[in-house]
Amino acid sequence: MRILIVEDEVHLAEALSQLLKKNHYSVDVVNDGHAGLDYALSGIYDLLLLDIMLPGMDGMTLLKAIRAEGFAAPVIMLTAKGEVTDKISGLDHGADDYIAKPFNTDELLARMRAALRRKGEVVPEDGLRFGNIELNTSTLRLSCQGKELKLILKESELLELLITRRSAVTSKEQMIEKLWGFDSEAEHNNVEVYVSFLRKKLAFLDASVRINTIRGVGYVLEATE
Ligand code: CA
Repeated sequence: MRILIVEDEVHLAEALSQLLKKNHYSVDVVNDGHAGLDYALSGIYDLLLLDIMLPGMDGMTLLKAIRAEGFAAPVIMLTAKGEVTDKISGLDHGADDYIAKPFNTDELLARMRAALRRKGEVVPEDGLRFGNIELNTSTLRLSCQGKELKLILKESELLELLITRRSAVTSKEQMIEKLWGFDSEAEHNNVEVYVSFLRKKLAFLDASVRINTIRGVGYVLEATE
């Protein structure tokens, strides 16, 4: 799961980023509205945490703009205490939820899971299934018919991406954007390394799931029985 935080209070944004990373989310932070718009429209985010009062472009304008462009992922507005009209306006313009600052971190995480669940995304508490494997993206545990091992975060994110795309081929570029962010320096061989780790772990578990290479295109999961 990749989350975008658009928040101009740098300390708050950083604290939020640390909290989400500790909970196994990938996170990007931007501190102004125009950058927020560019990042959000990259299409790599599963959820957006959006402040309202922002330099450049305010959160409400940003929200309207991304919804008009077809941004479908959930948006949770971060509001200052008591901004009731902002809350109503945000919900009217396509926000999924709001949370008042200063907020309780457990409540924020719960609201994020609820927003992701409503959008039909797979919430981290649930296991993702494909063939005879089950991946828990919250504990990073990959299990197969009674055997189990722990993945590292990037392996879990990569497998999660492949599972959620089902039979669609995923390119290395898509993997890099999802795992490292679209402005990262990660290269194709970073992806190849994690794919090879995952293949070894799937073999170790005797999984009936293979990561197939589609030459020149990318990777796709296959369940073989
Ligand atoms: Ca602000």
